[in-house]
Amino acid sequence: MHPLLARTCFRIQERLLGRKTFSIYHELIQSQWWPREKLDALRLQRLQHVVRIAYNHTSFWRGFMDKHGLRPDAIGSLDDLRRFPLIDKQVLRDNREDMVWREEGPRVGLVRTSGSTNEALQFYTSSTREAHINAARMRGHEWVGVRRGEKEMYFWGSPVELGKQDRIKHFRDRLINDGLTNGFELTPQRVADYIEYWKRWRPKCIFGYPSSFVLLINMARAQNIDLSVLSIRCGLKVICTTSEMLTDVDRKIIADAFGVPVYDSYGLREAGLIGHECDRHIMHTMDEQVILETIDPETLRLTDGEGELVVTNIMGPAMPLFRYRTGDIVTLGHAPCPCGRTLYSITISGGRIADFIITCEGKWVVGYSFIYICRSIKGIVKFQVIQDRIGEIRFCLVTDESFPADGVQQVEKAARARLQSTDDIIVELMDDIAPAPSGKYRPVISKPAQEFRGGNLGFTAPPVA
Ligand SMILES: [Zn+2]
Repeated sequence: MHPLLARTCFRIQERLLGRKTFSIYHELIQSQWWPREKLDALRLQRLQHVVRIAYNHTSFWRGFMDKHGLRPDAIGSLDDLRRFPLIDKQVLRDNREDMVWREEGPRVGLVRTSGSTNEALQFYTSSTREAHINAARMRGHEWVGVRRGEKEMYFWGSPVELGKQDRIKHFRDRLINDGLTNGFELTPQRVADYIEYWKRWRPKCIFGYPSSFVLLINMARAQNIDLSVLSIRCGLKVICTTSEMLTDVDRKIIADAFGVPVYDSYGLREAGLIGHECDRHIMHTMDEQVILETIDPETLRLTDGEGELVVTNIMGPAMPLFRYRTGDIVTLGHAPCPCGRTLYSITISGGRIADFIITCEGKWVVGYSFIYICRSIKGIVKFQVIQDRIGEIRFCLVTDESFPADGVQQVEKAARARLQSTDDIIVELMDDIAPAPSGKYRPVISKPAQEFRGGNLGFTAPPVA
C-alpha cells in the first residue's frame, strides 16, 4: 500500500481506538527542540497533574502519600519528586487493583508484560497512555528516517495460535504497512524462507531483537545467503532493535550483514517508551513523558553516573507510577547532542541479554517465546528455562497459590505443543530463582547455545541428539 494511504489508515485506526496519537505526535515534534527550561516547565506541570490524580483517584497512592506525609500539592519543583519513596515490581504486583483510575478515559484495561522479563507482570493501560507511547515511537522512528506508513517488518514473536483478535490485527497491520515474521523460532530453512519473503515484501525498516538478528545472520551465512541484497535492491534502509541490550559487537555484525545502519530503542511495557536513538546514535529520552533517575541498587542513593534506572511516568495517568525501580543498569546523560534536540540521553549498560534453547530437531527457540508457554498457565510468578545439554529442557518455576494441581503437566503439555520437539521436558517447582551476579534475572540459560553463539560467525548447524 502507498505510504500516504497507510499513514491515513493508521490515523483512522488510532482515532477509532480513542487515541489522540497524531495530535500528541505534533506536539512532540515541536517540544524536542524547546529550550530546556520550557521543557522542564512542561514536565513539572505534568508531574503535578499526575500526582493530584493519583491522590484523588487511587486508594493506593492516597494511602501511600498520607503515610509518607506527602500532600497532593507537595510538588513545587522536579526535585520534590525525590520525596516519594521508591517502589518496585512487587509493590505494583501487590497493589495493582488499588493503583488504577478506571475512569481515566477510554479503554482502561489490563495488559501483561511479554518481552522484558521473566517475571510476568500485569498492569493497566488506556487509550491515552497508548496514544502517548505510539506518538513517541513515531517520532523516534522518524529520527532515523522511517515515517509512519512506510513499510516496516516486525521480526517478532507471535502467540501459539492466531485467535480472532489476532486475525483482525493482522488485517489491520496490512492496512498500515506493518508486516510480521516470527523471530522466536528459527531454523536454517525458515531463515531462507523469511529472507525470500522480505525481498518480495520490500520493508524499509526491520524491527526486532538483536539476538534474533544475529542468529538469522549466522544461519544465512552458513547457507551462503547474502543479506545485503535487501538494502541494495529491495529498499531496506534501517534496522531498529529493541528489548535487549544491543552490544557494539552485535550492532556491527547486523549493520555489516544488512548494509544499513542499526538504531536501538528502549522501553518497558509498564513504564512506556523510554529512549530512542537519533541519527547520531545518541539514545534520547522521552522527556515529555518520563522523568528518569539512577540509584545505587544497594544503598538506594541517587547516583551521578551509572546506576539502576528509576522511572516516573508523567502521561496517561490510568495507572500512575512514581519512582519505579526497573532493575536495568543505565547511565543518564545531559550533554547536548549534535542533532540539536534538547532531550537528554541514556546509555544502557546492564540490560537484558536473551538466550536461545536448541531443540533436538535443531530449532533455535528464542527466550521470549517461553513467556507464551508460561503465560497460558495461571500462578507462575517467575520462571527460568535451563538447558545443560541438547535433548533436555528444564523449566524452573516459582508459583503462587493459584497454580493448578495439574500445573506441572500443563506446562509440559504447553511446552511440547509450542516447541514441537521430542526433547525431555522437566518441570521443577522452587521457592525462588536467584538473579545473576549482575542483579538481572536471566529467563533462559543454555550452555549449548552459548557454545555456538559467543560471536562465532563460522556458524555450523548445532548437533542433533
Ligand atoms: Zn540527537
